[in-house]
Amino acid sequence: MNQYRRLQDLQELEKEETKLKDELNSLPQINKLRQLKKEIEEEQNYLKKEKEKFDLQRKKLKNLENAVSKEREELELLSTKLFSGEISNLKELEGTDTKRKSLEEQIKELEELSLTEMEVIEQNKNRLNELNGKLKVKKETFKVILEDYNELQKGIKAHLEKIPQERTRLESQIDKQIMTDYNDKKSNYANNYVVEIKNQTCQGCHMTVPFQIMKIIKSDHFAKCDKCGRILI
Ligand SMILES: [Zn+2]
Repeated sequence: MNQYRRLQDLQELEKEETKLKDELNSLPQINKLRQLKKEIEEEQNYLKKEKEKFDLQRKKLKNLENAVSKEREELELLSTKLFSGEISNLKELEGTDTKRKSLEEQIKELEELSLTEMEVIEQNKNRLNELNGKLKVKKETFKVILEDYNELQKGIKAHLEKIPQERTRLESQIDKQIMTDYNDKKSNYANNYVVEIKNQTCQGCHMTVPFQIMKIIKSDHFAKCDKCGRILI
């Protein structure tokens, strides 16, 4: 095989390299991963805020419960005082009893508030658990897709890594002058600078190749298409 065929191999190798790099940058998982990452971050932020609200609700309940036990202690003291017989003054007795009744009312109110608060907390707890579960599933999906992506990326990279060595091997079999010409001009021909002749026709511009040029190529010499300037093989 002559060096012009090698040049064509080199051209194919470069096309493959471009194709692999494009593939690497447009793996179908990339968009899905980006989308999922965005959703996960948003949901994590939302959950964080909701958790803060939830903690505040629990704190509020704790305060209510503390207030209830404080008032219960006070009530107990009053009741002891009332029934111990240590108060003999009727007015004082009545006053203490009124205070006791009002404390009982307050305790009842606070306990009702606590109950409502407990219900809210229970509901929010379930809601947070549900959201956490959904987020967990999403994270798992992300992980699976990421593994797929990494696997594909690894395969393409392994393929790409072999290219420089192959390029060096091919270049070593091609004249320097031809290589320089190839590197200078290939981009003008959209990396289709080396073309075959089929039925005496240049496969680059599809014009007939004159007999003189055909003769040169048949004798394994370097020739270009006289119409489009491509290297003919
Ligand atoms: Zn041509």
